[in-house]
Amino acid sequence: MNEGIFLECEVCGRKTKDLKLVMIEGAAVYACPSCAAGKLEARQPIVRVRKVTKKPVQEEEDKLLIIDYGKVIQKAAQAKGLTVEELAKRVGESESTMRKIIHEKLTPTEKTAAKLEKLLGIKLYE
Ligand SMILES: [Zn+2]
Repeated sequence: MNEGIFLECEVCGRKTKDLKLVMIEGAAVYACPSCAAGKLEARQPIVRVRKVTKKPVQEEEDKLLIIDYGKVIQKAAQAKGLTVEELAKRVGESESTMRKIIHEKLTPTEKTAAKLEKLLGIKLYE
């Protein structure tokens, strides 16, 4: 026997498989046939037994720049024959910003880092 499919009438408490969603005093209520008699059927079925599987709030991954990101950028740029100026242009940063990044005085924004990674074929995050 599967008791799970039996639901209780919200009016009289009788257990029945045959519940109807009706409007009683302005509220949608699941009622057994005798309680539902003469009542207006509610249009919206309400899901009573709902498994609440809360999705964990996805935290944004904490990205950590590698320690020697500047050197890695510089090396990769040199390997590709790119000057700092060219590199800056390609990723849409100013030359001075690019220099600061290379000298690790400034961390690149995620956007810039992503561009650098793609352009130079390197990984800047751990
Ligand atoms: Zn009832």
